Amino acid sequence: MTHRAIVFRRLCLLALALTLWGAAWPALAQDGGQGSTTIHVVQRGETLFQIAMRYGTTVDAIAQANGIDDPRYITVGQRLLIPNVQSSDSAGTVTLHTLQPGETLETLARHYHTPPAELAAANHMTNPAQLYVGQEIAVPLSLEQGGDVEPRALYHVQTGDNLARVAVHYGVGVAALAEANALSPSAPLFVGQTLWIPGSAAQAPLRDLPPPFTDCELSPVPAVQGKTLSIHLQTSEYVTLSGTFLGYPVQLVTEDATQHYALFGVHAFTAAGVYPMVLTATREDGTQTTLTLRVQVVEGGYSSETISLTTEQQDLLNPQVTEPEWELFARVMSSFTARRYFDGVMGLPSSGAISSPFGTRRSYNGGELRTFHSGTDFAAPPGSPVVAPAAGVVVLAEELPVRGNAVAIDHGWGVVTAYFHLSAINVAVGDVVTAGQTIGAVGSTGRSTGPHLHWEMWVGGVQVDPMQWVQRSFP
Ligand SMILES: [Zn+2]
Repeated sequence: MTHRAIVFRRLCLLALALTLWGAAWPALAQDGGQGSTTIHVVQRGETLFQIAMRYGTTVDAIAQANGIDDPRYITVGQRLLIPNVQSSDSAGTVTLHTLQPGETLETLARHYHTPPAELAAANHMTNPAQLYVGQEIAVPLSLEQGGDVEPRALYHVQTGDNLARVAVHYGVGVAALAEANALSPSAPLFVGQTLWIPGSAAQAPLRDLPPPFTDCELSPVPAVQGKTLSIHLQTSEYVTLSGTFLGYPVQLVTEDATQHYALFGVHAFTAAGVYPMVLTATREDGTQTTLTLRVQVVEGGYSSETISLTTEQQDLLNPQVTEPEWELFARVMSSFTARRYFDGVMGLPSSGAISSPFGTRRSYNGGELRTFHSGTDFAAPPGSPVVAPAAGVVVLAEELPVRGNAVAIDHGWGVVTAYFHLSAINVAVGDVVTAGQTIGAVGSTGRSTGPHLHWEMWVGGVQVDPMQWVQRSFP
């Protein structure tokens, strides 16, 4: 964690006005891991020697694969690539699997041909019901893999089902379906019974989800403080969906009747941990099914800084000025439009260099780290263009006491971006803008002490890091 003292005049003053929650944060940075590559996350108290023993490899091999000069120095949370070295007496290798929604020890057992009991033992699990999305599961891989037909789905039998009907639904043969489940082709089924649907190995990962949910993807997994979380649900029939996570609604948009999407902002001060995401599907006949996922949130690796304010400077933060503006701004930034305007990765709003990143925790005059920088700052010459990073509709274009000349763009699906301290505004409320269109010019209006652009993004009513959207596309 870097800790910097910053003089007041160099600071983007506006962040002072923003409303915050919080506590102190340890400095563990993690990114969203995915899939089943062999990566080991260093745990407290582990040594490289222990890790090498666990994977049947050597300290030298791990050090070399990760560019580690001195094997005595590894840090908690560090991700190590484990080279695929098999010693002659090793029973097999271990791979790490990041748990996705709907995955259970049973689905992993089918996928990796490793019995559930072996998975539980390898991970010292006493209660497999405590699994959570984002959890890293060590999977011992047996040496004799393959042979069986890979299942591609898990189906829960509903009223009126028989093997033929399920086989037709999934486009598989009745005999193959019966064989995959060790049943006779004429065997009666009972409601709630689980059936493995045979398929090939190359297919999507197995999910064990209650009907009508047929698939659920979260990205990134685990979720990260201060970042956008993408949620994609698939259902077998038309339903309306609602949900909650971390005390905020999950606002879902349905496309093609059975595909449901939501973008969710994880607050920058959410404590690392495992939280329930509750998703409820309501069918046309009014019956409901609730899916509860346990989802891990990890720290975002933000740094912190101390800001010194004189009494006079503190007076500038008078709530009578800052609060009405905040209320107006927060209302605009929490807009939700079901139409999606953004498409693909976003561009940058300014060609200037980044002078201050999102998320830096701030303390004033040595107090608690109770605020954070709510956007990304770009240092750019006054008058240089500010462009829309993606298409959208202008929802704010006016001068504000703290934020100066400000523009906000609603990109749809709860994604709203804003641009502050502009020297000029080139758009009006209601304008539809395209990606790359000039919306204003860099300036130093409002409570700013030098020309810069503050770029801010809200997703689902929460401030998140806009730079994530420059690096990857959503949903
Ligand atoms: Zn800023």
